[in-house]
Amino acid sequence: MAAQETVEQKYVYDFSEGNKDLKDLLGGKGANLAEMTNLGLPVPPGFTITTEACQAYLATGREPDGLAGQIEAHLESLERAMGKRLGDPQDPLLVSVRSGAKFSMPGMMETVLNVGLNDQSVEGLARQAGGSTGQAAPGGNDRFAWDSYRRLIQMFGKTVCEVPGEEFEQALDKAKSAKGTTNDLDLDADDLRGLVDAYKKIFLKHTGREFPQQPREQLDLAIRAVFESWNAERAVLYRRQERIPADLGTAVNVVTMVFGNLGPDSGTGVAFTRDPASGAQGIYGDYLANAQGEDVVAGIRNTVPLQELEQLDKTSYDELLGIMARLEEHYRDLCDIEFTIERGKLWMLQTRVGKRTAAAAFVIAGQLVDEGLIDLDEALHRVNGAQLAQLMFPRFQLDHEFQPVAKGIGASPGAASGTVVFTSARAVELAAEGKSVILVRRETNPDDLNGMIAAKGILTSRGGKTSHAAVVARGMGKTCVSGADEIDVNVPAKRFTVAGQTVNEGDVVSIDGTTGKVYLGEVPVMPSEVVQYFEGSLDPEHIDNALVRAVHRIMTHADGKRRLAVRTNADTGADAARARRFGAEGIGLCRTEHMFLGDRRELVERLILARAPGEREEALAALLPLQRADFEQIFREMDGLPVTVRLIDPPLHEFLPPLEQLAVNVAVAQERGEDVAKEEALLAAVRRMHEENPMLGLRGVRLGLVIPGLFAMQVRAIAEAAVIFARGGGVAKPEIMVPLVGAVQELETVRAEAEKIIAEVVGDSGVEVLIGTMIEVPRAALTAGQIAEAAEFFSFGTNDLTQMGWGFSRDDVEGAFFWRYLELGIFGISPFESIDRDGVGRLVRIAAEEGRAARPGLKLGVCGEHGGDPDSVHFFHEVGLDYVSCSPFRVPVARLEAGRAVVETGGSDSR
Ligand code: PEP
Ligand code: MG
Repeated sequence: MAAQETVEQKYVYDFSEGNKDLKDLLGGKGANLAEMTNLGLPVPPGFTITTEACQAYLATGREPDGLAGQIEAHLESLERAMGKRLGDPQDPLLVSVRSGAKFSMPGMMETVLNVGLNDQSVEGLARQAGGSTGQAAPGGNDRFAWDSYRRLIQMFGKTVCEVPGEEFEQALDKAKSAKGTTNDLDLDADDLRGLVDAYKKIFLKHTGREFPQQPREQLDLAIRAVFESWNAERAVLYRRQERIPADLGTAVNVVTMVFGNLGPDSGTGVAFTRDPASGAQGIYGDYLANAQGEDVVAGIRNTVPLQELEQLDKTSYDELLGIMARLEEHYRDLCDIEFTIERGKLWMLQTRVGKRTAAAAFVIAGQLVDEGLIDLDEALHRVNGAQLAQLMFPRFQLDHEFQPVAKGIGASPGAASGTVVFTSARAVELAAEGKSVILVRRETNPDDLNGMIAAKGILTSRGGKTSHAAVVARGMGKTCVSGADEIDVNVPAKRFTVAGQTVNEGDVVSIDGTTGKVYLGEVPVMPSEVVQYFEGSLDPEHIDNALVRAVHRIMTHADGKRRLAVRTNADTGADAARARRFGAEGIGLCRTEHMFLGDRRELVERLILARAPGEREEALAALLPLQRADFEQIFREMDGLPVTVRLIDPPLHEFLPPLEQLAVNVAVAQERGEDVAKEEALLAAVRRMHEENPMLGLRGVRLGLVIPGLFAMQVRAIAEAAVIFARGGGVAKPEIMVPLVGAVQELETVRAEAEKIIAEVVGDSGVEVLIGTMIEVPRAALTAGQIAEAAEFFSFGTNDLTQMGWGFSRDDVEGAFFWRYLELGIFGISPFESIDRDGVGRLVRIAAEEGRAARPGLKLGVCGEHGGDPDSVHFFHEVGLDYVSCSPFRVPVARLEAGRAVVETGGSDSR
């Protein structure tokens, strides 16, 4: 048998071997450095060690077999290409070692510059670097070399050997004050030589060893440190917050050093190919002469706007602009870049498709279409519903007066100003007086729920995007900033301190749940222009507003593309009218229960508790005209569009006085010797009807089957309202929906009665009334084939389907313990927010398939909260529903996502 040759896994790629599509393997930075190399742009030569090498290292605690040899081979070829050897005492090749994961994790992982310097090569570097223009140094450039060496010891010490960074900074400050300066450029070669000695002592003190002099050892240790930085606490935390998988690992880039600190004709900078905040075209960037990359980020010296480079070095500036235009054209998107100029020679150190605000995402997508770089499908793909939703929140109107005092995590978007309170009870008290309050806590827990409900916004000094405060606030649609750790909260003393200032209970603060910024005082709030556009008060054709025009254009395209119709959940005329302006194509859920509250409560109580003969009929007769008027108003607002009216659903106890309160009142009255016969009867009835689990009790269709005449009255009111509206010249398209059906027999019973009433009412009016059901009980989903025989449509009630599918009480669990489930990764997002595709989604899929098999043409929709959730909309598109229905405010989001779903599944569906 022939000996099997084992093929060694490839762990190292030269920049010329990769490309931008290899991000999984080479990380974002490595893949893009390779892409730029292949475009012929000036990238310092180098190679990338793959994420697979990192994964292997992290799994076993040692470098995988073959890695060391491959690094050696690539280093040798780099040395050949550059005509220098790593750390050569005469003319050293120096390299930087940079992390680069698939997803950018800014500042989370490590970089070491100037690897290859030691006590000998620093002298060689000084000689080779001599003769800088502007600071000609006949004998060499000592200052530069020793500055580079001290930077190596500092970065290497801090990142590779965990020497506390402050000690180096203190030594640097000491050297500067000894020289009587605050600018590190004033330190000369001798000062820096002294600083290197001081740094070495610090290194020895903390590590118990001398600073390593072997260049290859420096390189290997730096690579290892980058691998390990993947699991550093801050990186783990960041990944959890950003939902970046933990097992990706980082790549490591080993790049030939180029120097921005060689003199005034050198420098370093960062730039965007257009404004990442507004999307406006132009050059946006910062430049710092005579500096290395980390100086820009560290803010040690003030940068100048990139435009000033034109005066300093026109050749490099023009070349940079040319490269930026080329990158945009190549990536067909906004790019951000890092560059260095070494004595008038431009080098590209990084590029990537740049992050941007929600507004910039729309504006840039529109511009790129105009420039012919992308088509409208691609523009639609590049924006998303979460960004659109962000643009629909009110924003702070900020000018220079307002500087943030702290920045936490934007945990739940929106803008809120209010009086600071530190306890839930105080929040409730002040809110009851009509005040806007901001509840400030270290972190929240379920006991804070009432305060959170009462508050305008929530601010915590601890916790991330999945903390209790964040999850609950998002669920409530309330502004929340979490984890603002510069704030020191002292609840017993009722104050917090931040940036040297004390904020007491009663003071006013403003929080921005999108940016995470916290301001002292009241910041004025600006309404959203995008909402004004949707409302019809801004005409995109006639205003000069790039954002509104871009939103209009992309929304129009989404509408042309989407297959799903978008309806709204609305149960008042006003909501229906607003939703229609937002683009709703009908009502998918009109909940009728609120129509039984307020001054109608007493009628309902009589209806439920009816004791005397005829009492129930009387109550129903009184309710009929009221209901008819309710429906007439809704048909009017939705003239010509379908309106799904759901028969009454909620548990009975919601219409009766609370049991405990009633019992206390009766006891007190008895004590006083008052006549309480009536109250006693009421109490007995309420006791009789009391349920331990009302959400699983007498509600929905069960109520209709138990209380004679209730559904009949509603059906009659709907049919009569439709006929009145039709006779008046309108077009009513009523769809009567039965809630909480679990068995076809329930629906058949309701249907038989309803059909009789409808036939009697509609006569020859031409009104057609459909009868269908919600699918919100798991049994209904599993017997959908049978249920479809009695239903003209299904509407998935994914709120109840999630509640009953998971066995999670929808009113309690999100605030009670979801934060823990999110922390443990049991799910990445609440299943009440985004559809659980595998479980609840499977029930939807089964019901859709089996329902349609039994009744081809069965109309399918969804009216649970998921109907307006971006991810879920894609799922409902895939499953083949006809429409989604969501709250008015989310209608535009659903329209956009329904269009994106078509583009992303590669479909050419259009309506
Ligand atoms: C549902 O359960 O998804 C639904 C829409 O009904 P409700 O939220 O009123 O129970
Ligand atoms: Mg329901």
